[in-house]
Amino acid sequence: MTASTVQTGSRPVGSPDTFRLLATETKEMSDDRDCQLPVWAHRLRKSQIERLYKSCGKGRLDEELIDDVGFSLYARCTSMLQVSEAIRGRPPCPNCGATAQFHEGPTAFAKCRDCGWTCPWALYKKTYQRKGLFAGGMESFVRDFVQKFAAARSHRERLVLIDTLIHRFHWESGDHAGGRPGASSLIEGKMKDIMAFLDRLSYGDDIPPEVAHTREEWRRKWRGNPWSSGRGQGS
Ligand SMILES: [Zn+2]
Repeated sequence: MTASTVQTGSRPVGSPDTFRLLATETKEMSDDRDCQLPVWAHRLRKSQIERLYKSCGKGRLDEELIDDVGFSLYARCTSMLQVSEAIRGRPPCPNCGATAQFHEGPTAFAKCRDCGWTCPWALYKKTYQRKGLFAGGMESFVRDFVQKFAAARSHRERLVLIDTLIHRFHWESGDHAGGRPGASSLIEGKMKDIMAFLDRLSYGDDIPPEVAHTREEWRRKWRGNPWSSGRGQGS
């Protein structure tokens, strides 16, 4: 079979019609700076987390606070998973939520088959760069959180899920050698400030024992990691 006999539907790939279509789309998009862009969830504020731990340490679980932090984390995690998919060439369409297609070329672009949304790739890419949205070694933990959080039967369970996630490290999944704490993708601020913040979070006496145990483990892992002595701390 030669290239000219390969069929897509009823039309051979690379027919003059196809080229004309692509040329028009590319031109339109390079002129269009107003295309609809995805909006990603921000990292959480430290004050949000601080309030949660303070309140939970007093022996009562503040359900509203747990949900406030939990659903903010849920939104952030969903954005991280979507960005990871976009990096793999499967960007979510910001208009209808379907998976759009990435088209390579001198002016790469994304296009959604379901609703017709299009966007130059350079603009799409800019929306997620340098925002800590690449899940990396955190991906399996982030996915686990998204799957379990909404389905958790109790707020105590939700608190433990939040606590477990923010105390993860990228290297723990075994895929990434870097010692970056997962919290740097989830909580705003520089890494060294985030680590100091988590380290001095006051828990109170009535925190669930799993939470206290997680912090002890987290401290042990961090002390044993070369990043704790300064590597990458400025980022
Ligand atoms: Zn769409």
